[in-house]
Order: sequence, then structure tokens, then C-alpha cells
Amino acid sequence: MINDKKVKLRLLPPVHKVVEEVSQIGEIKDNYYISGITWAVRNALEKARVIILDSDNSQESGTISKIREARAEFWEYSPEEFCPALHDWLNNEVLKELQDSNTILRRIINATGVVLHTNCGRALLAPEVADYVARQALHYTNLELDLETGNRGSRNDHIQELLIELTGAEASLVVNNNAAAVLLIMNTLAKQKEVIVSRGELVEVGGSFRIPEVLKAGGANLVEVGATNKTWIKDYREAVNPETALLLKVHTSNYRIEGFQHSVSTEELVKLGGELGIPVVEDLGSGSFLDGVELGLPKEPTIQEVVRTGVSLVCFSGDKLLGGPQAGIIVGKSALIERLRENQLTRALRVDKLTLAALAGTLRLYQRGEVSKIPVWQMLSKTKRELHEEAERFQKALANLSSLEVEIQANNSFIGGGAFPTATLPSSVCAVGTTKGTAGELERFLRQGRVPILTRIFKDKVLFDPRTLLPGDYQEIVNRFEEWENCIR
Ligand SMILES: *Cc1c(COP(=O)(O)O)cnc(C)c1O
Repeated sequence: MINDKKVKLRLLPPVHKVVEEVSQIGEIKDNYYISGITWAVRNALEKARVIILDSDNSQESGTISKIREARAEFWEYSPEEFCPALHDWLNNEVLKELQDSNTILRRIINATGVVLHTNCGRALLAPEVADYVARQALHYTNLELDLETGNRGSRNDHIQELLIELTGAEASLVVNNNAAAVLLIMNTLAKQKEVIVSRGELVEVGGSFRIPEVLKAGGANLVEVGATNKTWIKDYREAVNPETALLLKVHTSNYRIEGFQHSVSTEELVKLGGELGIPVVEDLGSGSFLDGVELGLPKEPTIQEVVRTGVSLVCFSGDKLLGGPQAGIIVGKSALIERLRENQLTRALRVDKLTLAALAGTLRLYQRGEVSKIPVWQMLSKTKRELHEEAERFQKALANLSSLEVEIQANNSFIGGGAFPTATLPSSVCAVGTTKGTAGELERFLRQGRVPILTRIFKDKVLFDPRTLLPGDYQEIVNRFEEWENCIR
């Protein structure tokens, strides 16, 4: 048996032979770069080695060996028949590795400078928050348990105290995301009734969330008032009738109406709502506890400021400027929050313990004044000088790769995630050109490595914005450029 294993191990082909071989396969040749293929081949050979070494153990365990008998896998053949069987197995395995690496959720490197990149999962959690989440995942928790009485508790109570303290609101409810928050509010407070919204605020966020459609899905009837560029308080007043359930203000997250324009402030709406006895709701989109003015961003109302206007409810995302997990947070008057909690939909939209842990961990950082530990704010507050120094270090790390031309350029980072749509932050980026191909080819090569690297192309160069790069990212990027330097093209 031992000998059989040794013989088989010796029959495993070297990496380059398998790479050569599988590169002939159409599906592999057309879709993957040599470095990705090499990586997949290494993994497959390593797996083969483990299987061969482990083969007699598996024969001892009845079920596994039966399954294996049925499939007659490569390691069961005699040394003479072993090679053809191995060959087929390897080809298959490499293809599987390559396909898996394209489908399973993977770490990527975001070099785009877009801090809240929806395609990349928006906000990163602070490491200590991630630790806290991992610990909650490994144990039972008091998620819905009142430890004093031993009775059933509410998963929302844990976070409510923090949200009340931070926002100044009376009560809170956390749901799956902000779209769910808007849906729930409409369904609870405005079903088969009318909701008045300015024509300048009929927002579409990322294709699938459109204010008119979400209102409809919640069962509410949209009443548009004003014009695209101008809406006045009298437009709302004139539209109110006995069917009016809500006045809704929506943050224009991803566009700006500039020039000849007028919109109605939350204060004005609250005054009108108070006068007529109609609740006012604000969908703040990317709500934030901090204003970005010090960082050079335009003034936007913070969550606390909106709450202070006396608005009935305000909702916002957990994973935009808040810097936490995906969640929809609703805060406001307790009587209305109570009605939301009683809606059957709330059960369908509720968040799990991991989301609550991530949110609680992030909120605690705000509470303790440890905002500098929140990655979103770390990235937003990197100074131009810091970014320039990072870009210079990166340029140096790439200096001995002759296929690259790396220069540092002044450029801008975007906030993303529907926050500050027209604002940018000044940055210093590394602009990389290559003698080995086009910027498009390099961009694709970077995106298809073991750790995919997402970049921007600008004027035939591939840009690396240090704003969204984490300390561990640089070595991975350098490794990938070395692969580019050494690959045959
Ligand atoms: C982003 C956004 C939403 C959707 O929030 P999600 O948390 O992504 O569901 C809704 N409304 C506004 C104004 C937004 O900016």
C-alpha cells in the first residue's frame, strides 16, 4: 500500500505540464489568464496529493469508500491505469477551481477610490466589530431573551438604547435594508392612502429601488407635487386631502438639481404636518451621525439634525456613511414605531443576530467617540498628503518591474453609495501604464487574479487610488504585477 502511494505520488505531473495541457481546453483558454490557471493547477495537484496520501483511510470508512467505488476515482486505479484517470480528473478539477473562483464570494481589493462601492459590498466593518460578530456567530446569544425574567425579549431592544442615545429619537426599529424600511413605513402608515412626494425627489437608487415603485409595493398611492426643479410648501398644502396619510421627503442621493431650483426643507414640512395632523417621514438614504464639512464635503443634515426637526420618522441605511452592516434603521416617534413593529411584514424584514451585532458594535464606536476606528471614516478622512505618501511607497514597490510605467497623478475619489453625489475628495493616485498590453488588458488581468483587484481606467492608464486600499492590499497588488511581468503574452 505504502509503495502504491509512493508510486502514485511520483506519477503526479509537474505544474507546468498540467498548465500546458489544460490551456488547450477551449473553455479554459478563452476565459482565463495563465496566472489564474497556474494557481488552479497548483490547488488541484495539492488536492490530488492529499487524496492519494489519505486513500487507505477512506477505504476503512465504509460509506466513503462505497461512494468512491461507485465513482471509480483516479486514486483507485493500479499504477498502470493511474495516469489516464488522473489526467481526466485533473482537467476536471482545474476547470472546477476556475469556475468556483468566479462564483463564490471572495475577498477583493478595491483600488477604485469609491469608498461605498455597492458592487463591492459597501462599508467595511471595523476589525474589532468583525471580531465581535464572529464571537456572536460561535455562541448562543440572548437575542430574544430577557435575562432578568427569563422571558422572551425583543431583538430590537438591544440596539434601541444606543440608537436613542445617538439620534435623540424616542424609539427605533432595524430591518433588512433601507428599501425595506421605506416599504414597511408605507405599508403600515399609508396602505390604500395617499403619500405626497415632490417631483424633484422621485429617486431611483441602483435600478431596483424606485420611490414610486416602492410606494406601490407597500400599497400606498403616490401623489406627486411641484416640478422637477421647484417644489414649494404650498404645493404640499394644496395636495392634502382626507386620503393623505404621509408627507414624504426623500434625500436625492445620487443626483443634484442645481441652478433654478427650490425644494422644501424638513422643518417646513414638519410645520405643515403638525398643523394638518399628518406625519412627516424622511428617507435620508445615506444617513450619517457626522457631517463631512471638515473633510471638505458639502453640508448635509446629520441624522440627529433631522430628528431634531421633529419629523415623525426618519430612515437610513446601515452600510452607507454609517459604516456598519447592511440594514435599514428607522427612528422617530414611539407611537409610530410601535405600529411598524406590529405589522406582519416586520417579521419578514427582520435582521439576524449577526447584523445586529455588527450594527451594535459600530454604534458603540460612535458612542465612545472612537469614530477613527470606522473604516469608512478612516478612508474619507485620509489627507491628500497621506495619500500622496502612500502612492509614493507603492510607486517604489513597483519600480523594478520593467513592463510598467508608474506615475503619481492628482485625481479625485468618490464617496459612492448614494452619499454626496456630486462631491469628490482630492486624492493622489498611481497611474500605471504597461508595455505589455493595453490598459483594458491589464485591468482585466488584475481583476482575474487570486485576489481580484478592482481598478479604474483613465486615459489609457490603470489607476490605483490609495484611499480605499488597506495595508495588506499592497503586497497582493505587487505580487499580481509580478505575475503580469512574468506572464507570456
Ligand atoms: C440607498 C438609498 C436607499 C436604499 O437603501 P438600501 O439600504 O440600499 O436598501 C433608499 N433611499 C435612498 C434615498 C437611498 O439613498
